[in-house]
Amino acid sequence: MAIPSHVLRELRDALGPERVLTRPEELIVYSYDGTWAEGQPDVVVNPTTTEQVAAVLRIANRERIPVVPRGAGTGLAGASVPQGGIVLNLARMNRIREISPEDMVAVVEPGVVNQTLQDELRPYGLIYPPDPASLYMSTIGGNVATNAGGPRCLKYGVTKDYVLGLEVVLPGGDVLRTGGRQIKNVTGYNLTQLFVGSEGTLGVITEITLRLLPAPAARATAMAAYARLEDAAHTVNAILSAGILPLTTELMDQACIQAVERKLQIGLPVEAEALMLIAVDGEPEAVEPQIHRVADICRRMGADPVEVATTPEEEEKLWLARRSVSPALALIKPNRLTEDIAVPRSKIPEMIRRIQAIAREYDVLIPTFGHIGDGNVHPDIMCDRRDPDEMRRVALAAQAVFEATVELGGTLSGEHGIGLLKKEFLPGALGPLAIEKMLGIKKVFDPHGIMNPGKVFPEA
Ligand SMILES: Cc1cc2nc3c(=O)[nH]c(=O)nc-3n(C[C@H](O)[C@H](O)[C@H](O)COP(=O)(O)OP(=O)(O)OC[C@H]3O[C@@H](n4cnc5c(N)ncnc54)[C@H](O)[C@@H]3O)c2cc1C
Repeated sequence: MAIPSHVLRELRDALGPERVLTRPEELIVYSYDGTWAEGQPDVVVNPTTTEQVAAVLRIANRERIPVVPRGAGTGLAGASVPQGGIVLNLARMNRIREISPEDMVAVVEPGVVNQTLQDELRPYGLIYPPDPASLYMSTIGGNVATNAGGPRCLKYGVTKDYVLGLEVVLPGGDVLRTGGRQIKNVTGYNLTQLFVGSEGTLGVITEITLRLLPAPAARATAMAAYARLEDAAHTVNAILSAGILPLTTELMDQACIQAVERKLQIGLPVEAEALMLIAVDGEPEAVEPQIHRVADICRRMGADPVEVATTPEEEEKLWLARRSVSPALALIKPNRLTEDIAVPRSKIPEMIRRIQAIAREYDVLIPTFGHIGDGNVHPDIMCDRRDPDEMRRVALAAQAVFEATVELGGTLSGEHGIGLLKKEFLPGALGPLAIEKMLGIKKVFDPHGIMNPGKVFPEA
């Protein structure tokens, strides 16, 4: 849709002409996210204040122009990919407004990059635990809008557990404040959490009050190789049953191990069915004995070899393998469909076996890795988008993965969201009543359907 010239004039008046982009070479930068989804905006606006966001939404609502909020565009569900309309780029609202060691909160604008906040907190001896692997690029606003997870989830929880309050601009330009800066709050409906994970479909988050925690003093990691995948899965329960709550338990299946070894040649056990990395944190005098207990449990559960790292340098070496999964997979095929399913932890071995069977049935390669302790794994369906027959098989394999997930009592997305790429599977996962109620909520906040239309819901 072409944006009428009087609207462009109003946008330029409200934000300043330099903050309104319309040239094709400027727009293309905002036409994609971390997936292969693509779509052009008609205009990109770069507000720096809540008032400017409100002005944009007032105009868009009046003119019924779609608005797609955008953080860093690292999303893995196509949720920030526009299909025309206005891209509202929050990256310039990137100030940390306050760090309060007393209240243990940070108040930030949505465009603050996660790692920037982590760095700023270090001198205070505080941490903001959610640490998606994209933390060097992704924004806190995007993290909140997708309820991002990270490797530390098993012990510390996900983004929603750290969002205490929000400022949100609603489609008509009204500014809503939710929650506060206290941990406890049962005053009325929990509107704060309604916006967490809403993928830009209800309003634009312009300020976030985050809960912080004291930084743990020490950390250690064990790496364990398993001949049988099931033994890796059972190890997680054995560790938890021993009274140890690890920071993280990350899994790589055989296809991932082999891909990383081909890339790095660091002597990974390519015959192993699974490689698991387990980290613990806390006081130094507790961490060292704990990681050795973890290693003993791994051995008892059948792991061989098991390595332990207690210094940052040693840890770095062990984590290199896990961190290299994505770049290593990129060498196998030009494209991949990254899925993000989550099942009850006890179902992980069966889920991975089903994924392997699906890969065989549709003749595609599906390396699987992820956060086994959270029951959240990423089966990456490798492909070449130029090959129509392969893409047909990829679509069937993806559908089969989702069906198996739902059958095992799981969910389509543990941390990436639904966006554009998974919306057709929503009815199968939630059923008509839940979708009807969700659309009812959307209508309350966004009666004209301008907020990120075409995302999350098949019919929106
Ligand atoms: C290499 C890589 C690793 C990743 N690792 C992880 C991981 O470990 N865990 C994880 O959870 N995800 C991960 N992701 C996915 C992605 O980084 C997260 O979903 C992240 O939270 C998106 O943040 P963003 O700033 O890039 O948001 P975008 O991609 O720009 O937007 C994502 C969604 O949020 C909405 N949005 C953004 N800002 C606002 C706002 N201010 N108000 C309202 N809506 C808004 C958008 O409309 C869209 O729906 C990874 C991605 C990559 C590329």
